[in-house]
Amino acid sequence: MEPKVYIDGKLYPKSEARISVFDHGLLYGDGVFEGIRVYSGRIFRFTEHIDRLYDSAAGINLDLPISREELEQAVIDTVKANGLKDSYIRLVVTRGAGDLGLDPRKCSKGTVVVIVDKIQLYDERLYQEGIPIITASTRRIAPDMLSQKVKSLNYLNSILAKMEANLAGVSEALMLDANGYVAECSADNVFIVKKGVLLTPAPHFPILPGITRQTVMELAAEDGIEVAEVTMTLQDVYTAHECFLTGTGAELIPVIKVDGRTIGAGKPGPVTGRLLELFRKLRTTAGREAIG
Ligand code: PMP
Repeated sequence: MEPKVYIDGKLYPKSEARISVFDHGLLYGDGVFEGIRVYSGRIFRFTEHIDRLYDSAAGINLDLPISREELEQAVIDTVKANGLKDSYIRLVVTRGAGDLGLDPRKCSKGTVVVIVDKIQLYDERLYQEGIPIITASTRRIAPDMLSQKVKSLNYLNSILAKMEANLAGVSEALMLDANGYVAECSADNVFIVKKGVLLTPAPHFPILPGITRQTVMELAAEDGIEVAEVTMTLQDVYTAHECFLTGTGAELIPVIKVDGRTIGAGKPGPVTGRLLELFRKLRTTAGREAIG
């Protein structure tokens, strides 16, 4: 069956799903998005993702053309129409079609798109063995230029870092802020474990407030693991006992090498293993039911 894509109130077969070439989402990256997972027919952390979409939209003064209820229903309906119990949802809201100028006032109404597809970023083997990453020379955009709290359609900063990862033959790149402190990866948040304490860059660094990051911090705290949001340097990462990344796509993926330095024992450590186990337990039971 051809996948079905929601655009502004209607479902279209994938081959017929189109938006205007005058859409400012295309012309200027003027819009926001979310990546959301469905596990066993349940939409994981649905409220949190919709909340973040609204925060992103508020950050760029983008009015959604439909109500929150309608938006949530559109996502649920699209998940149902595609019938995939384990899938990835891409929810996109653009400024809509305007003219060729930048002026957002020329865009009369935002465009809402919901795509549902299958996803598997990493082989199961890599969750057991861990992955190597590098540090990109591309720095995260500073918060006084464009807030990284806004999950906007302008992802070139991350794409440039991802190209550096590709060149190095690894799948993710760590990114530093303008002052050289560790921020996050191109599409994932970063954690290290030092002497049993779970550490991650604090929210005032240019990071996306990751929903998997928040989930993992909560799981750790409930399990009696000490968690702290900190200022993190590359030296902290190189000398960590464990390291892992979190993201909706990647879930929780262990890191065993950073810039050629072996992390800990060169294999996923006990805290990482425990959190991966807890995350996997949670993902199928938490979430809003979309397909019964
Ligand atoms: N940082 C960036 C830059 C991202 O694009 C993402 C989303 N893939 C994340 C972190 C992780 O956020 P989440 O756990 O909400 O997917």
